[in-house]
Amino acid sequence: MLTFQLLRARIAQSDIAKFDHVLADLDDVPTLVSPALEAQAKVLGVPPEELLGTDSSQDYLPPYENVRGEILTDGEEMVAVIIRTDRDNRIMVTDDGEHVVEEATQATLFCAVLSPSVDSLLLERVRDAVRETFGVELEVSAGTSRRFDELMDEGRVTVDKPTDAEVSAAEVLADPVSRKLAIAVKAGGGLLKKDLQSQVVHADQGRVEAATRALLDAGLLEADVVVVCGKSGGQVNRLPSPDLLQGLADSGLKCSCGRRIDEEKCEDAVSISQLGRDMLDGSRWMTVQLVVELERCGLPANRVLVDQQKGGDEMDCIADVYGSVLLLELKDKEFSLGNAYSFGAKMGIIRPDVPVIVTTEHVGGDAKTHFEERARSARRPRVARYREVETEPEVRYIEGMDELRGRLDEIVTELAQARSQKILGDTLALGSVSPAAVLRVVAERTRGTGAGSEPAT
Ligand SMILES: [Zn+2]
Repeated sequence: MLTFQLLRARIAQSDIAKFDHVLADLDDVPTLVSPALEAQAKVLGVPPEELLGTDSSQDYLPPYENVRGEILTDGEEMVAVIIRTDRDNRIMVTDDGEHVVEEATQATLFCAVLSPSVDSLLLERVRDAVRETFGVELEVSAGTSRRFDELMDEGRVTVDKPTDAEVSAAEVLADPVSRKLAIAVKAGGGLLKKDLQSQVVHADQGRVEAATRALLDAGLLEADVVVVCGKSGGQVNRLPSPDLLQGLADSGLKCSCGRRIDEEKCEDAVSISQLGRDMLDGSRWMTVQLVVELERCGLPANRVLVDQQKGGDEMDCIADVYGSVLLLELKDKEFSLGNAYSFGAKMGIIRPDVPVIVTTEHVGGDAKTHFEERARSARRPRVARYREVETEPEVRYIEGMDELRGRLDEIVTELAQARSQKILGDTLALGSVSPAAVLRVVAERTRGTGAGSEPAT
């Protein structure tokens, strides 16, 4: 997996030359930019610094100029550092109507990190070198999605960071047998332990005991004792421990049939806890697992929104991944054609860059066909005269929670690559001689030579 991070620091333009100190601090790390520039300078027979500088013959110039940069890589991790100066001086108008030119004196040092985990050792070294050299701290650059902020402004709330108890509970519920049992216990308002076996298919019955234990250990279920009336066979009372029975009987509590309560039979039972209820409502355990996985990819919980219909099993999460909006629909069942229609409508409202369906089962074939047809018709120009092609983002499927980590890694890697393309390109370009510099060198070499004159000595 690849994660992406962008950090920045403001420095004075007069300090730009100090960038060499940063590189000197890291001279044991292989680089991509300077070796390329040095090789070209050697061929041209001039010092490399003479070949720096942008080619101003371009028609369009961005409002900034990339002046220095390097890409450091130790194999697994890659850090691109680039310094940009504002190209334009700002013109200020004073109260007297005078025009004052405020020279651009600041520059921005950007640091783009591609690493398998957000804890990048190389980044820490760059951070230290930048601090020592420029006396400034690299700070995480927002670089977030505007669409995500709009969705937040529309009233959607960020997810609460899951507690440790919720994280372990979600792990237990991710197991289909445990989940089935928990749902049955919740629906039945508690179940006798001996009745749990019949809640799962024959093939899974051998796993019921371990699954029940895991549910109890995670605090999703609570162990109870049920008093069963020997006469009517009905469940009379439910209490946390059989030890309480004698005391209750002594204080006069009787079964409805009139017998002392401690003379009736006791059966072990389980009931759903408050945590269990909370985790099953709206399949919150799936949201918790998703948030945990996104956090592992370096995406904080405050960039994940929930969009849950109260009381229903419908659940959406919206995540801002490196400036792209991910819409994730979580479903603890098969994703049907009907679900595809409503998800299509949701896509129209949220306008995600990457729509993802996460189901504990499968996405139905007709639902997949529906999305393919949608994509095909969106590609067709609406009006023949306009050649503009509308594309609909490809819907991704995660079928089964055991696929969640691997498929999310793929999506996050893809978005990290897309996000880092521009800054890597800009930095790599600094390792290439500009046409203007080559022309200058060639012109200087041929000065005084030409038809009829002697070659320069
Ligand atoms: Zn009784």
